Amino acid sequence: IFITVEGPEGAGKTTVLAEAATQLQNKGLDIVLTREPGGIRIAEQIRQVILNTENTEMDGRTEALLYAAARRQHLVEKVIPALDRGAIVLCDRFIDSSLAYQGFARGLGIQEVYAINQFATQGIMPDLTLYFDVDIELGLKRIEQNNKREINRLDLEAIDFHSRVKAGFENIIETFSDRIQRVDANKSFEEVCTEVMEKITQKLNE
Ligand code: C5P
Ligand code: MG
Repeated sequence: IFITVEGPEGAGKTTVLAEAATQLQNKGLDIVLTREPGGIRIAEQIRQVILNTENTEMDGRTEALLYAAARRQHLVEKVIPALDRGAIVLCDRFIDSSLAYQGFARGLGIQEVYAINQFATQGIMPDLTLYFDVDIELGLKRIEQNNKREINRLDLEAIDFHSRVKAGFENIIETFSDRIQRVDANKSFEEVCTEVMEKITQKLNE
């Protein structure tokens, strides 16, 4: 089963997913916790190119293609083999981030970005996507307070970019309403963890 978590900056995706992975592992389940862009060496290298604060001249389509390239390699090397052996894959971001950030917020077009991602994924889509819905201001405040997190190129974007990302996600949720479930990420870590575990458990029992 392939589960992805999506949402804007500071929504708590990484911390909550780590906790969910631990709880599921403690139940004896085969869990692969991974992230995008990254998760394997080549994709982590692509991530460094995309997010390097010096690379301010990067073209939007270049950015979209690099995300798709990282996604492809990560799927082939890590996600598909894990799914094939029956593991539960928990992935921090996937295609919906590309649709929201590059497709909508950067204005490349959701359909266009979807098309290059179809080439990259050959149609592999998550069984369940949890959208972490957080107020932009709260998300950015959480990021400011998280001193373990490294500054990346997206942190240089103005607040209206992040509002567009959120609008993009809202758009995508409507399109993929059978796959994507909303989680109120303004709530406390414990509350969000509980909600996420409920939704994952429900999916596993289907
Ligand atoms: O998920 P994480 O915070 O590690 O993502 C790293 C950065 O990449 C974030 O700032 C996020 O906004 C950005 N990103 C992006 N487009 C994507 C995926 C991630 O701009 N498709
Ligand atoms: Mg994160």
